[in-house]
Amino acid sequence: MDSIDVLTLVPTSISAYLEQELDKRFNVLKLWTVPVPNKTQFIKDNSSSIRAIVGHGGVGADAELIDSLPNLEIISSFSVGTDKIDLKKCKEKGIRVTNTPDVLTDDVADIAIGLALAVMRRLCESDRYVRSGQWKKGDYKLTTKFTGKTVGIIGLGRIGKAVAKRAVAFSCPIAYFSRTEKLELKYKYYPTVVELASNSDVLVVACPLTEETRHIINREVIDALGPKGVLINIGRGHHVDEPELVSALLEGRLGGAGLDVYQNEPEVPEQLFGFENVVLLPHAGSGTTETRNAMADLVIGNLEAHFLNKPLLTPVV
Ligand code: NAP
Repeated sequence: MDSIDVLTLVPTSISAYLEQELDKRFNVLKLWTVPVPNKTQFIKDNSSSIRAIVGHGGVGADAELIDSLPNLEIISSFSVGTDKIDLKKCKEKGIRVTNTPDVLTDDVADIAIGLALAVMRRLCESDRYVRSGQWKKGDYKLTTKFTGKTVGIIGLGRIGKAVAKRAVAFSCPIAYFSRTEKLELKYKYYPTVVELASNSDVLVVACPLTEETRHIINREVIDALGPKGVLINIGRGHHVDEPELVSALLEGRLGGAGLDVYQNEPEVPEQLFGFENVVLLPHAGSGTTETRNAMADLVIGNLEAHFLNKPLLTPVV
């Protein structure tokens, strides 16, 4: 397969293993190494030979890129979320799309619980307290208990269910909102996000980003969660209306937030840096060596299956 041109958008920092395994098998064109002013020309120069794109959660393929590659056959995304790929366009043009579900579920759920604990028990602030020598001047303030608090989950899919399973181990009652009630699960279902937020201590966003879920966390939902409530976002940045989140934190209308994702990554609203009740992660939900390698194997497995005319391992389109 080393004559097949694959355009990759995934830098070494996200997965050196993916880069190495792609290099072993394909003729890899690394768009992320091309300086921004030269990217368009680079794509033009290689447009007729590119048969596959490898994107990730932050950079996918919009209609313009897809239309500029007449021989594109497949987009294999190094992510489970496909919100950065124009799926409609892919369907129209018969371009296959794959993602990396399941293998990252545990890590992302771990991070959701980790963020809840970090925000409520003030783990990051406590760490800074010790390192800066302040403990010698007096004991640290009391924090908020996580065990037993009601955890509300928006999107009870693979990750949402894994968050619920972990929270149950902390004796937390579970409630959720999604488009369909999951009757096979004994968790409390609320038909609106506002009702879920009103009845949750911790609200976890774990749904895909779509037109319906953009700003699913708005002022009304934040106010329903309230001044003791904690928001955890491990979905996508655009789920949260960031200016509303900042205002709520400034005005004490929200108890705290743990965020892994942002609207304009890697830019993060600087106002968030000043809050001790906010914990910020650099979109690292799936960021362990084990999981990123498993994701890379799925990306490669899907590409190989496609070019060998075998069934795709994890098709989206
Ligand atoms: P999944 O198994 O497809 O689950 C998504 C769930 O969201 C489904 O159960 C679905 O249930 C629900 N949903 C869909 N549209 C909804 C809507 N409009 N309102 C409320 N709920 C809705 O996906 P997953 O594997 O759990 O991944 C979920 C998302 O997590 C991904 O799309 C991705 O954006 C994000 N993610 C983030 C990271 C990270 O590093 N932070 C890593 C991996 C994934 P219904 O069909 O019943 O609505």
